[in-house]
Amino acid sequence: MPELPEVETIIRDLKKAPFQNKEIVDISITWARAVRGYSAKEFKNELIGNSIQDFGRRAKYLVFSISNGKTLILHLRMTGKLILHDQGDSLEKHDRVVYYFENGLQLHYNDTRKFGRFYLTDEPQEILGKLGPEPLGENFTLEQFRKDLSKRSRMIKSLLLDQSFIAGLGNIYTDEALWEAGIHPKQSSELIPEEKQGKLYQAIKNVLQRGIKNKGTTLGSGLGNFARMNQERGRNSDSLQVYQRDGEKCYRCGSKIKKTKVSQRSTHFCPRCQKKIK
Ligand SMILES: [Zn+2]
Repeated sequence: MPELPEVETIIRDLKKAPFQNKEIVDISITWARAVRGYSAKEFKNELIGNSIQDFGRRAKYLVFSISNGKTLILHLRMTGKLILHDQGDSLEKHDRVVYYFENGLQLHYNDTRKFGRFYLTDEPQEILGKLGPEPLGENFTLEQFRKDLSKRSRMIKSLLLDQSFIAGLGNIYTDEALWEAGIHPKQSSELIPEEKQGKLYQAIKNVLQRGIKNKGTTLGSGLGNFARMNQERGRNSDSLQVYQRDGEKCYRCGSKIKKTKVSQRSTHFCPRCQKKIK
């Protein structure tokens, strides 16, 4: 599932895409449930004749500013992808929504598992308002993070996955950050000592920044895996320290990486570097 670095990679690609401010001349919707807020017909009527003026990101959401004042918000969920096509290209298998621009370019939304959604709205805060701070933004401060951790008594991994606590983290980058900070994924958040709170704060930023620098994590070779708009794969899988390395040696201490479940999510950790504090 795309997390903050993958979505940020797509947004940076979109900002360079040559269809910004170009009129949308047609839209094809082959999976009506991929659009929300309007029926498929109304969705097309609202957008055709307008253009996308800007691209932004909030947590794992892609946020498009439309020339009619509305906001188009996309969540890719499990397998959603945006792929840029040239004039005349035909629909590919699993294409759910296709935007056609006046200069001939086409933006294809492809989604094998069909969980992704486009929300067209006048009130973006209704969707984005409940999200926690952006971990790479100014509002995410160590002081506040310490307070928030101490107030809760949840397993730290579940808490980090909670988008209202901190926005944009998912399964991969959470495991990576906890390994870097040396914190057990099932550690109760209020028992994390001050020194480790600081390490975790920095580790979250480090793993996300590295993910962005490597243009995201692509794990497998299947169609459902993350790819950029030009279909290039992200390179961050080569930099993962713990995620999906169960049975292999920890890069720090040589112990065997273990796998467990937290909130139904497979979780990878080093039993020696990430001891639980009671
Ligand atoms: Zn270790």
